[in-house]
Amino acid sequence: MKILYVTSEIVPFSKTGGLADVAGALPKALKEIGHDIRVYTPRYKDVPTAIDPGFPVFFFEDQRYFGSRAGLYQLPGGIDYPDNLERFAAFCQGAFPLLKQLRWKPDVIHCNDWQSALVIMYLKLKYKADPSLQRIATVYSVHNLGYLGMFDKNKLPATGFGWEVFKQDGLEFWDHLALAKAGFVYADVINTVSPTYAREIQTAEYGCGLDGLLRARAHDLYGIINGIDYDLWNPATDQNIPKRFSPATIVLKAENKLALQKANSLPQKKEAPVIGMIARLADQKGLDILAGALEGMMKLGCQFVVLGTGDKKYHELLTELKKKYPDQLGINLKFDAAQAELIYAGADLFLMPSRYEPCGLGQLISFKYGTVPIVRKTGGLADTVHDFNAKTAEGEGFVFTDYSAKALLAAVKRAVETYHKKMLWVPLQTKIMDLDYSWDASAKQYVSLYMKALAKVGLSAL
Ligand code: ADP
Repeated sequence: MKILYVTSEIVPFSKTGGLADVAGALPKALKEIGHDIRVYTPRYKDVPTAIDPGFPVFFFEDQRYFGSRAGLYQLPGGIDYPDNLERFAAFCQGAFPLLKQLRWKPDVIHCNDWQSALVIMYLKLKYKADPSLQRIATVYSVHNLGYLGMFDKNKLPATGFGWEVFKQDGLEFWDHLALAKAGFVYADVINTVSPTYAREIQTAEYGCGLDGLLRARAHDLYGIINGIDYDLWNPATDQNIPKRFSPATIVLKAENKLALQKANSLPQKKEAPVIGMIARLADQKGLDILAGALEGMMKLGCQFVVLGTGDKKYHELLTELKKKYPDQLGINLKFDAAQAELIYAGADLFLMPSRYEPCGLGQLISFKYGTVPIVRKTGGLADTVHDFNAKTAEGEGFVFTDYSAKALLAAVKRAVETYHKKMLWVPLQTKIMDLDYSWDASAKQYVSLYMKALAKVGLSAL
């Protein structure tokens, strides 16, 4: 199958979150099972193009919109670039000259989140009559419904469309533009990154105002859990951590913990439970309930190391808390891939108290590093982590349901109690290290999804 994969971020070239990990790994897995997959992505400032990720990547080059910007979507300080609509409309338009230049007609165009959604609409409306672009199936993946690409309606002309598309079954959303609707309305099939999130976004609570539209498209809406790339995330081969380890040599993990404590100027105590957290500092990630639970966590004798960047209010909150608990808190307010690896490798527990979580990669990476997740039961976290049962040894972590500081703290308490019972803890660690969240299985599910999209444009077999 010939697939054009369109993404606004991709490891190893650009990254703000999970989409970049997916974009770097899914194409690789699809190529390995024999598909002709090509990726199209913007070239941001200082992005080296010489790195080989194992599949062809075509960059959209535009000095003004991308080449001169170090941030992907935002200025430092978390403010969106004011011309994001113009930037990503230009990127989406650029896909078509690329296809012509390559003289290559994909069977499927797979777009991801609002930044690439307009490609689908251009194909379906603007290039409707173009003989070289007939019967291309489209797939739209939602990595996070919280980001809809909302803009003032007066920007509509910059998309290249007229006011006839400013309607409910077009780009209109509460009298604004929502570029994500280009995907929701026009894609042949839609998917999200976990089965639970696919169900949740059809409810008023999680649907961000689009639940009605998504319920109307329920027959075309699927959920496929993300994998992770074990070539990159593997404690047995990871060159960036102080001490490599595997399930058989799990005792060596403690050396990474000591290094993590040292790097955060925390007392180097082997017995203190260390909880790690790596996240964009956004409302989604549960920082408000964390703030309410922190004092209780400190009383349990935990050390807590956070790595993240995002909303100013959370930078300030964490900086304040650090003053209160200098010997128990490690705060790293930046994006730092090496520091992330050290946390995955060195922490005992990994916290994800998300308000919502489409899939979540942190818990999957933590599994591989024997770092037991504490998660709220939502989205992909609910699909991948089940509460540990000390009697049956079932479960992969510690799970709480209510979005509250109290429920979070209760889960941390259970986790810490279990941590101190080594007869339970070590088997739990080695069990989660052996879980398989490689991309192989998920890539096959994407192939079936592409088949469904092809059927919708009247092509059944390739
Ligand atoms: P989201 O896509 O909502 O940000 P995910 O859990 O799906 O959340 O993916 C987050 C990815 O980004 C993980 O690979 C995580 O390790 C990484 N990450 C998040 N924040 C940072 C940071 N400050 N430094 C390094 N890596 C980070």
